[in-house]
Amino acid sequence: MSSAPAKRILLKLSGEAAMGDQSFGIDPATVARVAGEVKQAKDQGYELCLVIGGGNIFRGMAGAAKGMDRANADYMGMLATVMNALAMQDALEHLGVATRVQSAIPMSSICEPYIRRRALRHLEKGRVVIFAAGVGSPYFTTDSGAALRAAEMDCDALYKGTSVDGVYNADPKLVPAAKRFDAVSYDQVLNQNLKVMDASALALCRDNNVPIIVFNIREQGNLAKVLAGQGVSTIVN
Ligand code: UDP
Repeated sequence: MSSAPAKRILLKLSGEAAMGDQSFGIDPATVARVAGEVKQAKDQGYELCLVIGGGNIFRGMAGAAKGMDRANADYMGMLATVMNALAMQDALEHLGVATRVQSAIPMSSICEPYIRRRALRHLEKGRVVIFAAGVGSPYFTTDSGAALRAAEMDCDALYKGTSVDGVYNADPKLVPAAKRFDAVSYDQVLNQNLKVMDASALALCRDNNVPIIVFNIREQGNLAKVLAGQGVSTIVN
């Protein structure tokens, strides 16, 4: 038996990761599949924090573009992340994984408020902690929420599961010759405006030495591969 200490990681999933092949909303079968991968990581001894975006339901910017007040629209986006968090909690608990949802915006009938020390205790007890509502303020994203919680929880790394398999020098969906980096520095991402996370999230990771691993969560079994250092991904550090 290995006596290596458990690695604590934060897994950030875009809201789209909960959508499956739908164009909107939550696909329970997809959430269940991702929950299975989270359970597998937990069974391997990882301590897991989760942050799920809300883009499959509502993005503040989209509301603002249609004339809504930006802050109001962002609060709606944050509420969307709570729905995704509850869907993931449900899927994980169906698999027998103990979880807690903590929201940056207190909603005591639904979940716990974010309390750092309590979250740390949950992790120590082997529970998966799902952080909802981003940082709790408009004009931010769940990437910033993920970066902040990863730093607060003293995570070894932030794994960002998206629909692309890493960081490219151009958008691979538009430029077929785009090249994927195996590794890239925080400053290169910021200076070249590469698509990883928004600048405030990235700077927070840089300033707190949280490496970011970008990988494709849509591919079944990929989380385990990437955690084992085998899957296709890009590390930002
Ligand atoms: N949001 C916010 N503050 C936060 C986190 C999220 O205002 O700290 C809002 C914002 O409107 C955002 C939406 O919630 O568009 C959904 O989050 P995000 O766009 O990060 O989701 P993802 O792209 O990861 O699915």
